[in-house]
Amino acid sequence: MCGVFGIFGHEEASNLTYLGLHALQHRGQESAGIVSSNGQALNLFRDMGLVADVFTAEVISKLEGKSAIGHVRYSTAGVSKLKNAQPFMVTYAGGQLAVAHNGNLVNSDALRRSLEQSGAIFQSDSDTEAIIHLIARSKRSTLEERVVEALSQVQGAYSLLFLSEKKLIGVRDPFGFRPLVLGKAKSGYVLASETTALDLIEGELVREIDPGEMVVIDEDGVHTSRPFAAVRKGRCIFEQVYFARSDSTLFGLSVYETRKKLGIQLAKEQPAEADLVIAVPDSGVAAAIGYAQQSGIPYDVGLIRSHYVGRTFIEPQQSIRHFGVKLKLSAVRATLKGKRVVVVDDSIVRGTTSRKIVKMLKAAGAIEVHLRISSPPITWPCYYGIDTPSRKELIASSHSIEEIATYVTADSLAYLSQEGLGTAVNDPSAATFCTACFSGQYLTPLAVAPQ
Ligand code: AMP
Repeated sequence: MCGVFGIFGHEEASNLTYLGLHALQHRGQESAGIVSSNGQALNLFRDMGLVADVFTAEVISKLEGKSAIGHVRYSTAGVSKLKNAQPFMVTYAGGQLAVAHNGNLVNSDALRRSLEQSGAIFQSDSDTEAIIHLIARSKRSTLEERVVEALSQVQGAYSLLFLSEKKLIGVRDPFGFRPLVLGKAKSGYVLASETTALDLIEGELVREIDPGEMVVIDEDGVHTSRPFAAVRKGRCIFEQVYFARSDSTLFGLSVYETRKKLGIQLAKEQPAEADLVIAVPDSGVAAAIGYAQQSGIPYDVGLIRSHYVGRTFIEPQQSIRHFGVKLKLSAVRATLKGKRVVVVDDSIVRGTTSRKIVKMLKAAGAIEVHLRISSPPITWPCYYGIDTPSRKELIASSHSIEEIATYVTADSLAYLSQEGLGTAVNDPSAATFCTACFSGQYLTPLAVAPQ
């Protein structure tokens, strides 16, 4: 779970990268970083925390030059520490190089072991660092050739940005697990995880980077090549369900429209007798609107989300731990009192959030709570860049839907079917998507069997 943004050929490169990262903040809140190039040398700043906390005007002013890349991180591989914050920046035989990675490699342990045995010293726990070592060790003459040689040795999910003194490079893995788009700013070109970052900087979407494609942007413009044969069946369906921002166009689909369709489909498959449809904000809103539209049950606001929780949240002692969800969400008594409520959320992971929400709704006066989930049960961990826990912690991998309903204290609980999910993304069999978290069908070999 990460977001990347890069720009080439703009006077305000680091400022725009800051704004782009701001728009991608939902993709990672642990650390943020920017590397800029003034054509001669790279400059890096990264730290733990939210984009707005990490960067000050003074810091940005020191990141000079007309090109930059940035990264927001939520750890999937490697613990949450500054040494794992990206972009990584190195000096090697070919000059200076920075990298920002969204995704997760599945053969990084084996790569790391073999690199360490031949003398490589790693500075982080991140799987991304192996890519840098492979590039530095390549005997090829150009950066592009080195990148291709390095990536031909890695397996898994990557949407990667590289910045050298003179070039910005973007590469997407052959499966196309994670998104990456090419855009145009008022001057220069942009590469970003999601289109919402282009909207914020008043850029224009040019197109999605193809799975297996490499785009090189330099003084002469945009050059494209397809060094890796596209497999085209790995678009992460969970990006559409939960992870991406609703205002983005992702894999050619409006995320908002997809989520609304998920809700429509859910209402068709799993109706409920109720007075009111409410959403778990923010990610459940579009699906709840779709559910209300299809069912004819009025939509209203039953939960309010605080957007000011930030990173100051300290895991409190047991006696007040249940305040956690209340910091984020609060129930609207006026809407809920005496009502039979359908509450729509995008997913259940461990079940703890749903349980707290149902209790909160009942405490605020709801007489019945019918929980509807706009995706199928998550039963398998993700190894391609979404932070999901082990099977042991995924409630649906060891409990039936009835057992989960009892645990979360809902009057009824129902999920969207896998076919319904496919229908909502215009691909009924979901053949062009990775659905491993719902189906257990992983698209690459895994180093160890899913735990
Ligand atoms: P849980 O309490 O573990 O069941 O969390 C479920 C809630 O977390 C849902 O409201 C989802 O919107 C949200 N969610 C789903 N997937 C993730 C994820 N990978 N990381 C963080 N939150 C998630």
